[in-house]
Amino acid sequence: MKKGMKKSLITLLLFIALLIVWNQTEAKVSGPQTIHLRLMETTDLHGNMIGFDYEDRKKTVEFGLSRTASLIKQARNESQNSLLFDNGDILEGNGLDEYAYRSHPLDMANIHPVFKAMNTLLYDAATVGNHEFNYGIDFMEASLSGANFPYVNANIYVEDRNQLDEDDLNYFNPYTILEKEVTDTSGQKHKLNVGVIGFITPIVAEWNKEYFRGNLKVKNIKETAEHFIPIMKSKGADIIVALAHTGLQSDKGLDEKKGNSVHALSKVKGIDAILFGHSHSVFPVKDELQKLPGIDLKTGTINGTAAVQAGYWGNHLGLIDLKIIYQDGEWKVKSSLSSIRPVYRTLNKKSREVIPADPLMEQIMKKDHNDALDYLKNKK
Ligand SMILES: [Zn+2]
Repeated sequence: MKKGMKKSLITLLLFIALLIVWNQTEAKVSGPQTIHLRLMETTDLHGNMIGFDYEDRKKTVEFGLSRTASLIKQARNESQNSLLFDNGDILEGNGLDEYAYRSHPLDMANIHPVFKAMNTLLYDAATVGNHEFNYGIDFMEASLSGANFPYVNANIYVEDRNQLDEDDLNYFNPYTILEKEVTDTSGQKHKLNVGVIGFITPIVAEWNKEYFRGNLKVKNIKETAEHFIPIMKSKGADIIVALAHTGLQSDKGLDEKKGNSVHALSKVKGIDAILFGHSHSVFPVKDELQKLPGIDLKTGTINGTAAVQAGYWGNHLGLIDLKIIYQDGEWKVKSSLSSIRPVYRTLNKKSREVIPADPLMEQIMKKDHNDALDYLKNKK
């Protein structure tokens, strides 16, 4: 190569290198501040803290929070900012729950077994499911007091026997605003106010008549959301996450048009993400049932709102990855991607891929698990 050519080649390379550096600096300086926030969901655990089938009294790899816990830890490690939520139906459903109700003492020293496990995972918030009411309101209250994280529900009210809405009192805290310290893509720290609101299917009042009648009433999900979202915004919520213990479509017996489904909730302005449960399905999956208008199965949005449903019994972890940017003086969700991760997968006829159980969770549950087995053996 001639000397002059070499020189101009070096100059060209230098120029390109400079251009790259300049571009990167430019992007950092002038681009909007960007936060990646991962929302994680468990739902409908029904007492399944470890991989054990109390019905058949045998171990299983197909469900149990001890395996979901491994997925949670992995998902946390992959992400700079994350929050963990549960969507209810934990206090009734298996032998451990039955033992906890019938023969496990509940006091400050002896919290409900499910919370011994769940508290170790550092949940950020949760909402109640209809099965929380199965053993009565007193048992539910005593049990929930063992949770180290807040419970929210906006549409269960104290029955005051009048038609006035204005004087109605929420039974639970309708919402909470989590002040989350987050790190943006350039390493800068911010305080992001994440509003979390909870809803339950009104069918709960039918299914648990004995406890609801005269004590509690349940209001319409969509209308309740429309009431509270502007209030949460005015109290400083930058983004809003809805925990909805109701299916993609309304329960049988409820009118879909009246707005008690996730599909209806997704149309409420101001909600950025919906984590849902109750119907024991997963979302998003390529499923005929999920071919409803407004659903994008690629990104996992319903009418443009990010959504996820994590199956049941801890058989899946639900994830919503939000890209949030600072624009016009406020944080806005720019895009989202929902996904589900199973605790086991069938690869072919002979083999399957299984997520290992978290040994800490198994250890924590050991005594209550054995006590539950004793209880089940001795019960009439
Ligand atoms: Zn339910």
